[in-house]
Amino acid sequence: MSTFVLATANPHKTEEIRRVLADFDLELLPRPSDVPEVDETEDTLQGNALIKARALCLATGHPAVADDTGLFIDALDGRPGVYSARFAGEGATFEDNVNKVLTELGGVKEPDRTARFRTVIAAVYPDGESWWVEGVLEGTVLRERRGEHGFGYDPIFAPLGEGGRSLAELSPDEKNAISHRGNALRSFAAKLRD
Ligand code: IMP
Repeated sequence: MSTFVLATANPHKTEEIRRVLADFDLELLPRPSDVPEVDETEDTLQGNALIKARALCLATGHPAVADDTGLFIDALDGRPGVYSARFAGEGATFEDNVNKVLTELGGVKEPDRTARFRTVIAAVYPDGESWWVEGVLEGTVLRERRGEHGFGYDPIFAPLGEGGRSLAELSPDEKNAISHRGNALRSFAAKLRD
């Protein structure tokens, strides 16, 4: 059985990661609370995922796994992208960020509201080895929030093939079955198995 320490402190992400990886023979250790947050200084998802995994690997001596996610909106030339957590500024809440997206897309008509979530999952080992995999979910940005599940931008993102429902209207298992993070985690597990 492989053991990894999780780099994320986000309880929503932790729950999704544990649910998807429950089917695989992996031990996942929680992020120790005394490890400080690391600054995400890179301009790519993989760069930031590797920074986070490396920090946890160094701090604990265990192999570490980290996730970095962004929402890439075509009408905004790919923004907020890598900067999705701080789209409305440093310390922005999910609500602030969603409001900024809705405002910026105010005049944009349905066919042009296409977007995708991308998640990179990075693994870093104590000997310095590292690798990463990616998962993508295509969809459109809604005009208003819908649904109570999930977190972040879920209430305004309607994945393709789900009849216009937002990610926040899907159950946790429905989201994980199609999501950017679910897809990246399944690739992660497949790569470990090979
Ligand atoms: P990070 O990976 O923690 O840097 O996430 C970047 C931003 O995207 C944060 O504002 C998250 O809330 C948001 N985010 C990450 N994953 C998801 C998701 O699965 N659904 C909706 N928003 C997400």
